[in-house]
Amino acid sequence: MGTELGKYKVCVSARSTDKEIMGKAQDGGIVTQLFAFALEKGIIDGAIVAGPGARPWQPRPFIATTREELLSARGTKYNISPQVSWLKEATRSFGMDKVGIVGTPCQMQAVRKAQLYPVGMRDVPDKVALAVGIFCMENFPYKSIQMIVEDHAGTKLQATKKMEIGKGKFTVITERGASVALPLKVTHKYEQPGCHVCLDYVANLGDISTGSVGSPDGWSTVFIRTKKGEETWNKAIAAGCFETKPIEQVKPGLELVTKLANEKISKNKKTVEERATFGVNKALRNPYL
Ligand code: SF4
Repeated sequence: MGTELGKYKVCVSARSTDKEIMGKAQDGGIVTQLFAFALEKGIIDGAIVAGPGARPWQPRPFIATTREELLSARGTKYNISPQVSWLKEATRSFGMDKVGIVGTPCQMQAVRKAQLYPVGMRDVPDKVALAVGIFCMENFPYKSIQMIVEDHAGTKLQATKKMEIGKGKFTVITERGASVALPLKVTHKYEQPGCHVCLDYVANLGDISTGSVGSPDGWSTVFIRTKKGEETWNKAIAAGCFETKPIEQVKPGLELVTKLANEKISKNKKTVEERATFGVNKALRNPYL
């Protein structure tokens, strides 16, 4: 196992067995199912998820404490949702002792940093009960999503049912069933620049991390990484929450996940190096240069 996939105990292909969860799931409904189970069993008091915001397809982080609230946050929204900003709120204002949080790989890094160096996060370190990371190649500001969907795909955001990134395309699917697939080279310039120095594709620091890549349509690839993640996952499996297959038995499998993780790392390492050559990072490393 190389370092590009991070440390993990087990990797499987999985999907939720819950029809309601799968109804509007992005892929295998893993995050919603995990949190719904963890809430029901008291493993978490609530989960910080990305729910609907003020404008169509704009996520708004909030603390879901019921299954209904979790269901309202199903599906991927390809723009920024400041999940970590609610961590302190969850422990301090909501008084939660066991918090679940879903986020991108960079947000998993922020959660772990808040636990290790809890400056301004006094109540947080021992209260993160389940951190679930989602695979992430890049993300977009809200304005960019508007331009991609409305200008390039010629579709209203309000009329959009689902967005997907996969197989080299950014696909917009409308409520009426039409679908427009844009090559990623069209959407590349709209990505947030910070993503171009990001070296984590599969959320190495989540207790569990998941994404569609590597698994067949309607299924998700799931890495169970920590003891905490493993305990919750095993209980959820025992309760019949998930159908699973060994990752070795599905196509395209870990080979594709590894390939994409390596592509992200080598492409973004180049940007890190380029930035060093125009002085920003160099100056930070050595003030005398
Ligand atoms: S690419 Fe990296 S920095 Fe950008 S949203 Fe994803 S995890 Fe965060």
